[in-house]
Amino acid sequence: MGNSNYFEKTNFRTLVEENGHDKIQDRLNIIDVFLGIENHITLEDLYRILKEKGYNYEPEFIRRSMKQMVDLGFAQKKQFEGQPIRYEHRHLGKHHDHLICTKCGKIVEFANDDMERLQLEIAAQSGFHMLQHRMEIYGLCSDCLKERTLLMPLAMAKTGEAVVVQEIAGGKTARSRMSDMGLRTGDLIEIINNTGQGRIILGHDCTRLAIGRGIAQKIMVSLSDKDRETVCDTS
Ligand SMILES: [Zn+2]
Ligand SMILES: [Zn+2]
Ligand SMILES: [Zn+2]
Repeated sequence: MGNSNYFEKTNFRTLVEENGHDKIQDRLNIIDVFLGIENHITLEDLYRILKEKGYNYEPEFIRRSMKQMVDLGFAQKKQFEGQPIRYEHRHLGKHHDHLICTKCGKIVEFANDDMERLQLEIAAQSGFHMLQHRMEIYGLCSDCLKERTLLMPLAMAKTGEAVVVQEIAGGKTARSRMSDMGLRTGDLIEIINNTGQGRIILGHDCTRLAIGRGIAQKIMVSLSDKDRETVCDTS
């Protein structure tokens, strides 16, 4: 890694020197530190790490230096849903995609040749010549998954999850509210939208339902490994 970092840095130096940029040593210090970080970092992260290493640069100068690295093809700017803008290395000839945990924000990289080929094929089938793509898989990482109990209140289920109703913890009122809506134990539900506030929107039996958070605390569910398409199985 050290060698390829040295090569990237020399390559960068040549390009900025050719263009007659000022503060070349400072720009080199920033790329040096950036190349040493194998992570998807925000400008704030970089500012902090540079400071720890004794480089006290203005955030605006760091931002402009990163923009230059993006423009020259040494860095890539990424923004995953619900997260701040991040930067990562851009190594020539190498491509990878991302898994993003919607709970703790963890980002995991993956590269899959079959997936890459399939995307080209799909584009070509519609007469597209693919120039670039972004494959982002959102979900819960293995650590966050371990933290979840087998039974949880519906209110805790995440958008996009498929869950099965296991029991209704409330008294008669909750139970009759549930049966009014046609929800029974054993039913499969898709969480269409749970923002953590206000009503939760569910897909159940080919219908969308809106459930208040109070009731959703009383409905105990478990994660389902069934395909969520079975929520509306018309076959
Ligand atoms: Zn890809
Ligand atoms: Zn996580
Ligand atoms: Zn990455």
